[in-house]
Amino acid sequence: MVKLAEWRGKEVFHKYGIALPRGTVVRSPEEAEAAAQSGKVPLPCVIKAQVLAGGRGKGGAVRFAATPTEAREAARAILGMEFKGEKVRELILEEKLAIGRELYVSLTLDRSLRLPILMVSPHGGVEIESVDPSSIDRQPIHPFVGLAAYERRRAAEFLGLSGPLAKSLEPVLNALWEIFQKEDAELVEINPLAVVGDRVVALDAKVIIEDDAAFRHPEYSEVRDDRTPLEEIAREKEIAFVQLDGNIGVIANGAGLTMATLDVLQEYGGRPGVFLDLGGTDDPKKVAEAFLLMARAAPKAVFLNVFGGVTRCDTVANGLVEAMRQVPPNEKFPLVARIRGNNEAEGVAILRTAGITSLPDLRDAGRAVVEAARGGRP
Ligand code: GDP
Ligand code: MN
Repeated sequence: MVKLAEWRGKEVFHKYGIALPRGTVVRSPEEAEAAAQSGKVPLPCVIKAQVLAGGRGKGGAVRFAATPTEAREAARAILGMEFKGEKVRELILEEKLAIGRELYVSLTLDRSLRLPILMVSPHGGVEIESVDPSSIDRQPIHPFVGLAAYERRRAAEFLGLSGPLAKSLEPVLNALWEIFQKEDAELVEINPLAVVGDRVVALDAKVIIEDDAAFRHPEYSEVRDDRTPLEEIAREKEIAFVQLDGNIGVIANGAGLTMATLDVLQEYGGRPGVFLDLGGTDDPKKVAEAFLLMARAAPKAVFLNVFGGVTRCDTVANGLVEAMRQVPPNEKFPLVARIRGNNEAEGVAILRTAGITSLPDLRDAGRAVVEAARGGRP
């Protein structure tokens, strides 16, 4: 997932002719002051943190300034922030427009319909997830036809726009479609699209480029992904590793078994915090490496659930035992194993000599991990 920062998204918007506030990107309080002083950015202005997380408005990462000095101080305050774990390094400084209503428009892929959909809501400026579904209009768009005139009219009507406002919405919707197609986006969102006088202006920009099409867009290649530092290391080592917000670590092999494992934990009230897919690996070195990476995510308990198909249970067990030895004593955590399949008896024996029991039943093992994470012993 290549998620563009607002200013990069706005560059794309500009290229496709979407109306934007006048503004610039700054990286220091002095630059902010100078931009306001020189008239490059008209006053009063808005100063916004360029982070990938949403909810900046509510979180104090969007501020207003009426003078160059205020712009400098607001920039200083925001640059000093850590917003949802992300350090703020860049700011957008742009003119503060007198806005009427705030609207929501987006184009994204509906995976169940397997079609692009145009979503619009007259209640913009807040996260779309918090908007009553009856206030959101969703129109599937035929991928070969694109946005038809009647679909644009229906969107304008649902948004309560008519006359010149409806007219100004048209090029915005057409641009959304063009961006969606030509830039291989999986989401193009404007929230809010603001009513300013007799036209609509994009105050925010969210553009996500489809990963699988990234090779077609070298222009985005230096865009930072929204991976965590550990996920970044895993990527370099070619380990499939995802961090979630729970406290149980999961090591499994194959997407199906990994998903089933997460489901079982959920069923017993456990919350997966990180999961790691060994794939077809049974190289003990690789298993150990993956395991140590998992340890760095500080799980309360770890569930190793491996099926030996091509993978051999004994080599996985060897890697695991080797890795356990390398985990510093103060970072140790309870481990529940379930290894089944190819060379199972040997694998189970290797684990047993290291003091690890392998539970053959998925539910038993799942319950044991959840209990261990709660502080009981496995
Ligand atoms: P988000 O909260 O991270 O999505 O950040 P947004 O870019 O959507 O900004 C949050 C809110 O700040 C918007 O919903 C607006 O209410 C307000 N805002 C942003 N730009 C302007 C502007 O130019 N003029 C005015 N009056 N308000 C703005
Ligand atoms: Mn927004």
